[in-house]
Amino acid sequence: MFLIMTVTEKSEQLDFHQVTECENCGRVGAVEVFMIYRCFCLFFLPVWKFDRRYYAKMNCCGAAREIPRETGEAIRRGEEVFLDPAMFRNLPVSHYKECPVCGYRTEEDFDYCPKCGNPLTRG
Ligand SMILES: [Zn+2]
Ligand SMILES: [Zn+2]
Repeated sequence: MFLIMTVTEKSEQLDFHQVTECENCGRVGAVEVFMIYRCFCLFFLPVWKFDRRYYAKMNCCGAAREIPRETGEAIRRGEEVFLDPAMFRNLPVSHYKECPVCGYRTEEDFDYCPKCGNPLTRG
């Protein structure tokens, strides 16, 4: 029998809730925080996580930024953390379209949602 060890990169959304006026696109959006890490997996079960990095992303326009590791770990521990929305200033806006009915998002130039057929609105 072989031991199957693989290294994979994974991301995990952390439990973080902050709604703020976005300094990048001017709309009100929620800040989402992700942890990106690599892990050794044994039979697809993560056994060791390493190389953790943390990103914050505005869900309104997709502006994303790496945040300091200490901040990310504090969020992961469930501490009260406030992220300054000024860090999202002047970042590229992703031009996705979103389905108002099912929430499907795409960057393709579709006019109708491929999932439920409703007209897409520009995100
Ligand atoms: Zn925004
Ligand atoms: Zn849809």
